[in-house]
Amino acid sequence: MAELRVRICLAGLVLCGAGLPAAGSDLGPIEPGLDYHSYANVDQFRTTHIGMELRVDLELKSITGTVDLELKRLDPRATQLVLDTKNLTILDVTQKATDVLGATAKSETIWVSRPFHLEKPDPILGSALVIDLPPNRKSTESVRIDYETQRTATALQWLSPKQTAGHTAFLYTVSEPIGARSWIPLQDTPQVRVTYKARVHTDPGVQAVMSADNDPKLQHRGEFTFVMPQAIPSYLIALAVGDLKFKATGPRTGVYAEKALINAAAKEFADTESMLAASEKLFGPYRWTRYDVLVMPPSFPIGGMENPRLSFITPTVIAGDKSLVSVIAHEMAHSWSGNLVTNATWRDLWLNEGFTDYLQSRIVTAVYGEPRASMEEVLGLQSLRADLAKLKPQDQTLAIDLRDRDPGLVFSDVPYEKGRLFLNYLAAKFGRERFDAFLHDYFDHFAFKSITTEQFNDYLMENLLGRFPGIVSREQVLAWENAPGIPADAVLPVSTILSQVDETRSKWLSGTLQPKKFGLDWTAQQWLYFLDNMPAALSAKQLESLDQAYDFTRSRNAEIEHSWFKLAIAANFQPSYARLEDYLKTIGRIKLIGPLYTDLMKTPSGAEIAKRVYAKALPGYHPDTVKAIGAIVTPAAEEGSE
Ligand SMILES: [Zn+2]
Repeated sequence: MAELRVRICLAGLVLCGAGLPAAGSDLGPIEPGLDYHSYANVDQFRTTHIGMELRVDLELKSITGTVDLELKRLDPRATQLVLDTKNLTILDVTQKATDVLGATAKSETIWVSRPFHLEKPDPILGSALVIDLPPNRKSTESVRIDYETQRTATALQWLSPKQTAGHTAFLYTVSEPIGARSWIPLQDTPQVRVTYKARVHTDPGVQAVMSADNDPKLQHRGEFTFVMPQAIPSYLIALAVGDLKFKATGPRTGVYAEKALINAAAKEFADTESMLAASEKLFGPYRWTRYDVLVMPPSFPIGGMENPRLSFITPTVIAGDKSLVSVIAHEMAHSWSGNLVTNATWRDLWLNEGFTDYLQSRIVTAVYGEPRASMEEVLGLQSLRADLAKLKPQDQTLAIDLRDRDPGLVFSDVPYEKGRLFLNYLAAKFGRERFDAFLHDYFDHFAFKSITTEQFNDYLMENLLGRFPGIVSREQVLAWENAPGIPADAVLPVSTILSQVDETRSKWLSGTLQPKKFGLDWTAQQWLYFLDNMPAALSAKQLESLDQAYDFTRSRNAEIEHSWFKLAIAANFQPSYARLEDYLKTIGRIKLIGPLYTDLMKTPSGAEIAKRVYAKALPGYHPDTVKAIGAIVTPAAEEGSE
């Protein structure tokens, strides 16, 4: 995922404190590998394959599903299968007669009802679905569940026709971290990996795509079949339905988008094939056959989601100059770190995201050059420092204690940017050649496995620290993982280009350099750095001179607009406000709009605007966005709700 930051940083103190206990000092020691965010009894049963038959009703906003879970039975005496669900209506649970009665069953095709019940729901985890099963000596069996989703499904966003570019209704899923259980009853833990097959029924005029094989050449009329032959964790099961077009960007890569965006998207992401080639050279073969990108509606709450074979990407990275496509490098890098080698629990998320940020920089360096990668890393470090300033010390560690807390809390900059700094440190200490060879072997060794921080440490000890002794100690590694803040021996990124921007900014602030005398050949990263490091409040006159010269209010680059609006709000610069309102209403990406709402709420007149705009924008926002922005705009209403 490119970012979530739903609750920690944007909502600030409100959600950091309210309703959610802090990291549990009184909960005793953590048991590594135990998933505290799943009810599934994975030591007794493990799902190996999921077969799905899904009917998507865009008008009623519901999915009616039948799911067949193929189970490996680890405990022959077990008499209950426990699954994860959240806000699902369970209609029936059945088992093949041969699974219930053994050899005495007359037919393979007869399904027998099984007793089941839903446990009392937990606001974060949902309800355990408990199914009674007869003890069984067979090592495999299947369970079939008929169910319906509810309008409250946290992973589903239903868009009405007027909320999309093409005026056709749209559905998409965001399953990470524990949203899959709100649209499929299953063992919703990243340590269970499944292959899947799905048949999806839709209205005839739309197309369904999944995180599986999507053959761009096939024509469909309301029925789509998908196969995901590689075993993936549940949070990577993804579905989108809408009026989609496809355009190839290379033999193995392409873009799906609504018609209005398809050409711009294909142009913006034209380097996807080169990124894939660069990635394979660095990290070993790409094992997922195709790499396609699905451009989401503007309401998509995050930058991108690494659904295998089909990354979901926010349209806010389409800037017209490829300046923000490192999000594609990030999601593609997850094909190794995350999708191939996966965090076993959400505490271990840094194994997904820190590695991915490191890989992302390497891909950007290979395709766009080192100066750009360094600029992006410096911007990332700034963002990390801003997060660290708001986080409690225990939440500044790489492997954070999430017990009794919403696993969404883990998505601060810490697992991403601090994780990248840790890997940069190892690469600097051991030399890039040795570290790259280590990474290459690491991806091979743990391919299609879900691992804990402790398993990574053992592998690191044996294959890097132990092999080249005397360079980095185990204690130093543990300090990176378990101590707050940025370690004193971190190797911090530097960018000479951005240092020059500091000089330019100082000259402009002192009045010795006029707008248009600088910046005409600047990249987006230079502008972001220029704007993000301004003193607290500029005068309206200063903003006017910048806006006249560079037209930031109407920038095509959503990140630059974001940085500009922050300055505009601080200075109450009215000429930008009409466009600001439009921006807040049309974009759902929390990273971009959350800080603007937070800043607006600091003054009574700004709060009035924030509340009015939020009320209008709310029907078009994703549930995660509603939750995050709702907590900023109406903090009292959020308390006590889930
Ligand atoms: Zn990510």
